[in-house]
Amino acid sequence: MKIAVVGAGWAGLAAAFEAHLHGHRVTVYESGHRLGGRARSVFSPKLNSELDNGQHILLAAYTRTLDLMRRLGLDTEKLLYPMPLTIASADGNFSLRVPEGIGPLAVPSALLLARGMSTLDKLRLVASMAALASKKWSIAPNVDTHCDHHAGQPAIQGPTVAQWLQHGKQSQRMVRYFWEPLCLAALNTPIDRACAQLFANVLRDSLGAGPEACRVLIPRVDLSTLWPEHLPPEISIARGHTVRQIVHGDAVHVDQDTFDAVIIATNAPSAGRLLEGLPSVSGADAYIQQIQAFQSLPIATLTLDLTKIWDMPEPMLMLTDSPDRAQFGQWLFHCNTFLSTPLGTSRVNVVISHARDLSRWTVRQIVEGVITQIKDQTSRYAPMPSVRAFELITEKRATFAAVPGLQRPKNTTPWKNVFVAGDWTDTDYPAVLEGAVRSGISAARQLSQGWSCDN
Ligand SMILES: Cc1cc2nc3c(=O)[nH]c(=O)nc-3n(C[C@H](O)[C@H](O)[C@H](O)COP(=O)(O)OP(=O)(O)OC[C@H]3O[C@@H](n4cnc5c(N)ncnc54)[C@H](O)[C@@H]3O)c2cc1C
Repeated sequence: MKIAVVGAGWAGLAAAFEAHLHGHRVTVYESGHRLGGRARSVFSPKLNSELDNGQHILLAAYTRTLDLMRRLGLDTEKLLYPMPLTIASADGNFSLRVPEGIGPLAVPSALLLARGMSTLDKLRLVASMAALASKKWSIAPNVDTHCDHHAGQPAIQGPTVAQWLQHGKQSQRMVRYFWEPLCLAALNTPIDRACAQLFANVLRDSLGAGPEACRVLIPRVDLSTLWPEHLPPEISIARGHTVRQIVHGDAVHVDQDTFDAVIIATNAPSAGRLLEGLPSVSGADAYIQQIQAFQSLPIATLTLDLTKIWDMPEPMLMLTDSPDRAQFGQWLFHCNTFLSTPLGTSRVNVVISHARDLSRWTVRQIVEGVITQIKDQTSRYAPMPSVRAFELITEKRATFAAVPGLQRPKNTTPWKNVFVAGDWTDTDYPAVLEGAVRSGISAARQLSQGWSCDN
């Protein structure tokens, strides 16, 4: 069977590889010249260096991604820098580290031994996690029968993370120093808008799954080299080719080429545009409306190249942001501790999730604000050397807003032999790499099953 995949992000490439393993002939179309989509490398002329389109981390719970890398013959141990899940503020005032090697006691002991929380805070945190686990990580939804715009069905409106935290009587300090940063890092959506159930799913597969599953894995090479550039040569890849039109009939025409089926693995807005051009069939309008309902939120990453090596041993530290002073940093990564290629000097990445407020400031103000912030908050380490050069990358459509009531489409569409894949499909995860990979694999499997049933 001849298959087209539109989009070479992690979802599209996972779909292409899976379809190839099922014996199909696969062509991937990608607008850009780098593979990996949002999780790709980009060249920075300012730093004269390859950078990622934003610092990414994986978790050991990303089982499908790790399995895919191994099936491509890649050594995940060499390519990923492992560290125990550690939420430690740069200023040393807060720290929670999940110890390894003590089995199921690891997470409760991490919570109880955490620094910077009162005993009452710890007990409430343990109680909230235990209550969630006892309900199989399910948060009771409220059915909003007034909301009937999704294909005539009532939307399931669960609580926001803020409402769930209030219910669990979490203190302001815990919200500020633990829950807010964790929710922003996982969902890129602030707690007063974020869907508690999606957050619970992340907790289930990280803190709730034991110390091994919640181990953090930081790429030691750039994101395109990590695995996207390693697909088998039999998979044909058309780089720099933006698909403008898909025509659906007995066969599927992607621009000028003809295929038996197509997997649209673009972001949600592009998928919506391509599907709008298909002939009207039953359920098409509701399906497209579902896809158009996604809102995007930005993430920015500020990379600083320093004039000297910084003697700062931590790979990843939490920063406390103060957006009113242009101190936007939320996480600080010291790249020299994990990158496999020596850089000659120190490089740090500063992650700014939900980066909507940045537009009110000049780049200079942002860079100066973040440098001051790092210097102030890392004063217990050796002083950070001065900055030689910087790059600020803002990905406007980094993730979808993970809000309650979002109806996420399945991989199958109302059109026969047209499938979709991407982190925005119904994966049970927020917009993350593992969701994208799972979605791609699932789309290719459903396509193959449908084809073998029909023939
Ligand atoms: C800055 C940043 C930090 C992040 N941090 C993390 C993290 O730490 N951990 C984590 O798990 N996730 C993280 N994410 C989320 C993660 O990157 C995404 O969930 C994932 O990359 C989405 O993959 P995808 O394949 O679904 O979509 P995409 O990566 O968006 O891929 C879609 C591809 O389709 C192509 N395309 C679009 N339209 C067309 C067309 N018409 N024709 C041809 N090609 C087309 C695009 O060019 C793109 O390459 C982060 C994202 C960003 C931006």
